[in-house]
Amino acid sequence: MKIEPRDISENSMRFVISNTTPAFMNMIRRALVADVPKLAIDDVIIYDNTSGLFDEIIAHKLGLLPIPTVPEEFVEKAKCTCNGEGCSKCTVRYTLSKEGPCTIYSGDLTPDRPGFAFSEKRVPIVKLLPGQRLIIEAIAAIGTGSKHAKWQASCGVGYKYYPSVKIDATKCDNHGGCIKECPQGIFKFDGKKVVVDQSKIEKCTLCMSCQEYCAVASGAIDVKWDESKIIFNVETDGSMSAAEALRQSAKSLRQKFTEFESLL
Ligand SMILES: [Zn+2]
Repeated sequence: MKIEPRDISENSMRFVISNTTPAFMNMIRRALVADVPKLAIDDVIIYDNTSGLFDEIIAHKLGLLPIPTVPEEFVEKAKCTCNGEGCSKCTVRYTLSKEGPCTIYSGDLTPDRPGFAFSEKRVPIVKLLPGQRLIIEAIAAIGTGSKHAKWQASCGVGYKYYPSVKIDATKCDNHGGCIKECPQGIFKFDGKKVVVDQSKIEKCTLCMSCQEYCAVASGAIDVKWDESKIIFNVETDGSMSAAEALRQSAKSLRQKFTEFESLL
């Protein structure tokens, strides 16, 4: 197996992995979506809410805010020594008390210890008119995407087979219709010859538009793909880096295999 990084930023990652199988990469994809633990607001205590939004809508919005998470620092509430009562090992508490006129943003919630402010500070929660009040306490707990989407750290996880597009020079009429036909712009003129722009080949979505167009004209284009070489994309919501989410997915798979082996 060989991994070649492409675009890597804090919250997103694209890489090409060779000598693998679609089944293996799909296992990673599923683990990223369902098994990576992260913090999310799980319980909201509303002391006063005279805003224009129902309690449930505010609680729902709070649940979807990304909280910076180091999964190893927390245990699931149900498995904690506090028996699910909520302690510093399994929960983070946030407080908010505001009176209008103002707009409440995610950054207005104060965590009970440093380092747990929401990753996005400018997500609007509710707008308060003069005299309206919102006083709440919110409790975050750790969970996984398999239980609820609010605990899904990764979004936009996907992969595609590595494309291979070839032009048979003996058949090609160099008319260039395929250049307009390809939505990803992977063909170009090299002098008067139509060629594949190899620097853009990874953009190919295997839509086959070029091959279908060319089949009528000259039949020179041949589109294939390599199932042992995969282009993989992952993004996170900001609760952890894309690299950390990948490490966590590998860790969850390792735990599952270890458990399976011991059961056998
Ligand atoms: Zn606890």
